[in-house]
Amino acid sequence: MQIDAVEIFQVAMHLNAPWRTAYGEDATVETVLLRMHSGARSAWGETCPLASPTYSAEWAGGVFSVLRDWLAPAAVGRSFSSGEALAAELARFKGNPFAKAALDNAWWALAAELAGQPLHRFLGGRRDVVEVGEDFGVQDSIDTLLAQVGAAYAAGYARVKLKFRPGWGLEMLRAVRNEFPTQRMHIDLNGSATWEQSEMLTRLDDFHLEMIEQPMSGDDLIDHARLQSMLRTPLCLDESITSLARAEQAIDMGSCRWINLKPARVGGLTQAVAIHEACRAAGIGCWVGGMLESAVGARIALALATLENCTYPADLFSSSKFYSEDLADLPVVVETGPSGGRQLRCLDASGLGCSPDPERLARGTLAHAVCE
Ligand code: MG
Repeated sequence: MQIDAVEIFQVAMHLNAPWRTAYGEDATVETVLLRMHSGARSAWGETCPLASPTYSAEWAGGVFSVLRDWLAPAAVGRSFSSGEALAAELARFKGNPFAKAALDNAWWALAAELAGQPLHRFLGGRRDVVEVGEDFGVQDSIDTLLAQVGAAYAAGYARVKLKFRPGWGLEMLRAVRNEFPTQRMHIDLNGSATWEQSEMLTRLDDFHLEMIEQPMSGDDLIDHARLQSMLRTPLCLDESITSLARAEQAIDMGSCRWINLKPARVGGLTQAVAIHEACRAAGIGCWVGGMLESAVGARIALALATLENCTYPADLFSSSKFYSEDLADLPVVVETGPSGGRQLRCLDASGLGCSPDPERLARGTLAHAVCE
């Protein structure tokens, strides 16, 4: 497929409510959208590294610059017959998986569009609907959290995920487990613990969690392997998995039994599918998460979640959870399935099936570049 031109947009999206993280509160999410042109046809990709280098080393302004100055010029005017061929061309640029994902995801969306197939089918997905879970961060009180978790189970969410932080840890978890003794749940530490806390971490076995997500640093695989050998509860790695090579090392060392696959974090769908295959061969489960992206990026992640070895409910949400108006022309809406479970349905349209609304894109654009 010939890449004739790409347009790159750094965009601010206003949240319904400030998003509380370990480093403060954000009123907006910054994302990067990329439109890839081949002849008269085009398609969109998205990568959402957030506004500051706090989830990973990448950030939206940096991703925009790397794409404009290095990655897009290397891809435009060339023809790539596969995502692997595009990745091989970009491999001489070190790191920057979020930036590479913008091109890779757009390549897949455009290739599916040209093939006349929905992206998830083109990718090899086996189903049209994906079961989803619900997530809860730090709340004002444990009573507030208990009410929200109860409402999520009652609404049909198959599992909940709880953020676990200093000051919002064992006591919070004990209260939730007491109230909901058998329901499926797991916790996400976002790398906030250290090896010095390994004794506390082994006590988490008492809570019969589905998994413990990213307990220690995103740089680490070794301490996670040591911790997994001390725990019955499976560990799940998220921030630590940045490429196929890292995933293969984690699998070889026994660092985890689950991988949370975010396509943007690993360089796009090409690497994400390769990691999915490596996990399947090793008996390691996968599940898909999002990054507060618009419905364009959410539909890319949703397509990935239809692959066979994605067996745990996804971290993908209705657009309305974060945005009063999604940047895309078609929002993502969680629906109730025939057995009462909450799910997301893939669109029955060729390619991605949605694109940014032109007026909303123009309003939110912070920076724009064209490479042709
Ligand atoms: Mg996580």
